[in-house]
Amino acid sequence: MQWEVVIGLETHTQLATRSKIFSGSSTAFGAEPNTQASAIDIALPGVLPVLNKQAVECAIRFGLAVGADINRYSIFARKNYFYPDLPKGYQISQYEEPVVKGGAIHFSLNEQDYQVRLTRAHLEEDAGKSLHEEIPGATGIDLNRAGTPLLEIVSEPDMRSAEEAVAYAKALHQIVTWIGICDGNMQEGSFRCDANVSVRPVGSKTFGTRCEIKNLNSFRFLERAILFEVERQIEILENGGSIVQETRLYDPDRDETRSMRSKEDAMDYRYFPDPDLLPVVIDEQWINEVKEKMPPLPLVLKERFITEYGLTEYDANLITSERALTDYFIALTQSAKASAKLCANWLTGEVMAALNRTQLNIKECPIQPQQLVDLVARIEDQTISGKIAKTVFEVLWQEGGDVDSVIEARGLKQVSDSSAIEKIVDELMASNPDQVAEFRAGKDKVLGFFVGKAMKVSGGKLNPTQLNDVLRKKLAG
Ligand code: ADP
Ligand code: MG
Repeated sequence: MQWEVVIGLETHTQLATRSKIFSGSSTAFGAEPNTQASAIDIALPGVLPVLNKQAVECAIRFGLAVGADINRYSIFARKNYFYPDLPKGYQISQYEEPVVKGGAIHFSLNEQDYQVRLTRAHLEEDAGKSLHEEIPGATGIDLNRAGTPLLEIVSEPDMRSAEEAVAYAKALHQIVTWIGICDGNMQEGSFRCDANVSVRPVGSKTFGTRCEIKNLNSFRFLERAILFEVERQIEILENGGSIVQETRLYDPDRDETRSMRSKEDAMDYRYFPDPDLLPVVIDEQWINEVKEKMPPLPLVLKERFITEYGLTEYDANLITSERALTDYFIALTQSAKASAKLCANWLTGEVMAALNRTQLNIKECPIQPQQLVDLVARIEDQTISGKIAKTVFEVLWQEGGDVDSVIEARGLKQVSDSSAIEKIVDELMASNPDQVAEFRAGKDKVLGFFVGKAMKVSGGKLNPTQLNDVLRKKLAG
């Protein structure tokens, strides 16, 4: 039997607001436990939540970025359940009328274009956290996270492999960080996915029973968890069993998923509109204001970089994978001194390799866009060769400075003076008569021997095109 995998993701993105969704408490990460949980966050009697406008604005931004409908009228509902990290007994979320409906995420994978439709995105508050390791023999509860604003983004079951699910999650991560609604820090839990996974016989029109794997906070775990879960389900089905719909947890240490609880239905949560909160009304004017503040989106820029500057799809993808990288590239293109295409090559090549090596991100890059432009311009006007440019790059990286001064001070200027090149070639030919004879006997490869020698004696500084011309002319005799 051939099986088809079906995956839908629910992603919780923590919104980058300074205060919580219904109170003024700080959302900063890493504070002493329970120092950032106010009476409102834990719903003590008599308090009233007040909606954070910034959180709604984040949702609007997201809706605009993914081509969704912004619901002009949305409501907050109470989702009732008890868990130690939710002592108030309900989570404020959105049920019937989410703030964002529809839209899609586009990405490419193995040179193929994909689209995953979104069902909805709704605002909700986060719960607290259980601390299992801090207190020996007991579990602590830290309510600092209670009330932190989340946008839960729900996809349609459009993905057909773990690889596709990871590509979708990466594209989504790129968008929410790009538009600045989420810091994207997965280790701190700012972006976490629940994966709904089922399998069905290839050709089947109906979906199989799914399991939901909770709280995957890295792309690797997301991939591993799905791969394991698919295997598990196929094995059960092939042995004549059936899948029980349930919520499972992924254990990275054992690389397996384990049953956590049987799946609850919406009914079990007894959703009802929160009587303490008014419906949210979003008007045209607000949407337009948000629209005006939106940065150009990565896909749009990617296309522009390809058509306007002749970048390869690969380079354009790489550059637009991160907003800061794109900003750096745009700074490079602001100057007419150097071609955008060669600048892009240097950015995705030398610069990114050096950043990787030194574990820095582009914002910490010691070489400023202006320096890189100057360097590329000196390659293009043949002051230095591409090879020597790497030496200059190293100096700029280590010590900083001005490109022309570095070239001058270290005597790295390319030799384009033909009489100087001719002199070197004459000397080499005189001291290597055998090779000259070989060349004249038809062994073209010997040219490389002379190029190597000439570059060696000149410290790599000869203009390569000129050197080639002179060599060909003189060797031909
Ligand atoms: P709930 O809110 O109870 O988790 P939903 O019906 O809203 O359930 O679906 C949640 C997620 O599960 C969505 O991302 C959806 O695409 C996905 N999903 C639904 N059915 C399946 C299925 N049979 N296989 C895989 N994913 C599914
Ligand atoms: Mg769910």
